[in-house]
Amino acid sequence: MKILVGVKRVVDANVKIGVKSDGTGVDLANMKMSMNPFDEIAVEEAVRLKEAGAATEVVAVSVGVAQAQETLRTALAIGADRAILVEASDGVEPLGVAKILKALVDRELPQLVILGKQAIDDDSNQTGQMLAALAGLPQATFASKLAIADGKATVAREVDGGAETLSLQLPAVVTTDLRLNEPRYVTLPNIMKAKKKPLETIKPEDLGVDITPRLKTLKVAEPPRRSAGVKMADVRALVEKLKNEAKVL
Ligand code: AMP
Repeated sequence: MKILVGVKRVVDANVKIGVKSDGTGVDLANMKMSMNPFDEIAVEEAVRLKEAGAATEVVAVSVGVAQAQETLRTALAIGADRAILVEASDGVEPLGVAKILKALVDRELPQLVILGKQAIDDDSNQTGQMLAALAGLPQATFASKLAIADGKATVAREVDGGAETLSLQLPAVVTTDLRLNEPRYVTLPNIMKAKKKPLETIKPEDLGVDITPRLKTLKVAEPPRRSAGVKMADVRALVEKLKNEAKVL
């Protein structure tokens, strides 16, 4: 069984970001970039399935600028077998990425596609769903457990008030939630090994895909600054303020 995994290069989750002064977007100059955290979970899950004998090959795909090769090398160091970079400018919209992944599904014929539930830069939470629709594949989003047996994927999903378990006929699309697994640390020997693994670079045109944007960002703004808190002398003063100033009691 072949598994295709999507990995997006995004601004590192631990760095403090700011908005460009002209309000056209987030300032990414000299920012640390990393693999989208949900995609690390996706790669980890695919590699675990391979280690358990349920999969034979893990192919990591990224759509983005040339530097996304580093993100793909990280996926290879976690344990993916080969990588495909679909080179495009940053900010390809979820529909564009889904169309590219659909073309790769047609070319690679994976039995399973694992994506993150969302990219932490655009928070779209759309690509997996769009891919499943374009490719006509069953989908299970926000997976917190995944098992493969007898040509089927069994997926547990956290829903309001409990867990839901779905059974999907493969091939299928699964998107990862935080609790699916804890990605391993990438070791130096595996980073060295990853340098020798195959990484193919293609363009969206090679797949016959048009990624012309459909959305226009009108403005990006910082959230309003919160004013400083006030320390109250005692509970009586606090209740007084909540009643008469905040008017929440
Ligand atoms: P989104 O719909 O943008 O929130 O992204 C959901 C998931 O789709 C991500 O966690 C990735 O697995 C995949 N994805 C989105 N954009 C890309 C990209 N440029 N390259 C590779 N995978 C992507």
